Amino acid sequence: MGIIGGGQLARMCAGPAAELGITLSVLAESDEASAALVVPSSPVADHTEADAVHAFARHCDVVTFDHEHVPPHVLELLVAEGVQLHPRPEALTYAQDKLAMRERLTELGIPCPRWARASTSADVTAFGDQVGWPVVAKTPRGGYDGKGVRVVGGSSELADWLERASTDGTGLLVEEWVPFRRELAVLVARSPSGQAAAWPVVETVQTDGVCTEVLAPAPDLDVGLSSSAVHAALRVAGALDVTGVLAVELFEVGEDGGDPSFVVNELAMRPHNSGHWTMDGAVTGQFEQHLRAVLDLPLGSPRPHGRWTVMANVLGGDLPDLYPAYRHVMAHDPEVKVHMYGKGVRPGRKLGHVNVLGDDLGDLRARAGHAADYIRGVVTE
Ligand code: ADP
Repeated sequence: MGIIGGGQLARMCAGPAAELGITLSVLAESDEASAALVVPSSPVADHTEADAVHAFARHCDVVTFDHEHVPPHVLELLVAEGVQLHPRPEALTYAQDKLAMRERLTELGIPCPRWARASTSADVTAFGDQVGWPVVAKTPRGGYDGKGVRVVGGSSELADWLERASTDGTGLLVEEWVPFRRELAVLVARSPSGQAAAWPVVETVQTDGVCTEVLAPAPDLDVGLSSSAVHAALRVAGALDVTGVLAVELFEVGEDGGDPSFVVNELAMRPHNSGHWTMDGAVTGQFEQHLRAVLDLPLGSPRPHGRWTVMANVLGGDLPDLYPAYRHVMAHDPEVKVHMYGKGVRPGRKLGHVNVLGDDLGDLRARAGHAADYIRGVVTE
């Protein structure tokens, strides 16, 4: 099978693929790409070049994705040539285009923030006056880690985006600003024959728009909210005919003392940062499950191994050479599982993550945070 894109998600599929006896090929952006370093003979090409992507894909029985950025014209060519893509382009479009996602989820009756399509500053102003300021504006395509998201108090703060949107005719997504209690995520996997499995709902902690920590399961989560969130994610997976892993990012909302509920923030159709904990914390990790799902193999159990698993992302900091810090972290706490992506260090770049399991959530958070901070170079003992 093949993966388009040679990032860390493709890299983390390599271990499970080897264990399941699957021959994996990766179409990488460069021979230094995270997955190219561990998957032998990864061809190098740009995922926007239709002919190169097709030359890669025609040798694969199934093709899946490391990211959501393969353009529609490339996907169309692959489908026309008979390549088995999972997820299929009809589903993937709802993870690629936030306006299409909002439209479809609203049709399905899935709770979302109030939203509108805005093409002009008058559209933004009318929406803000209706729902209240500030509003959250998003570029429909290409955003990640909060790039492509702006909280604005007036339409003038969007002049550059509106100008670009009017040139390419796409429009912007504008949403009410949601005063959420916390961010949650539900991860499910679904196979082409319709089998589905869900991991427990997790809490995702963001720092400056980037996910830094995941708590699995989400602490003190209302049981009704948990089951309705899992139900909604499975329903979305079925209605959109998603194949592979689907991550549904949620905001938990509700007045203090009132019943909690949720609205959906966005969808991702691939293994996701909110599921890295499953590599060590669940019977079946998300990378193995994604492979099983896209190959239409029976799915594995998503059952957690223990009471809590905490994942902390390792972000790039000032240390150019991570190796000494990495050795130290392993020696300091042998129960911490370290996963590194083989990427060059850049400040703020996601370079790896750590997982730790146990019964005392506060202790696990401290240990995972310490390991991530140490590798980053923010703490030295
Ligand atoms: P990205 O695709 O870059 O991850 P998201 O749509 O997930 O962008 O938004 C990034 C972050 O911005 C979210 O994790 C959340 O913290 C904040 N955010 C997004 N939409 C809203 C909203 N409607 N109300 C309040 N905060 C929001």
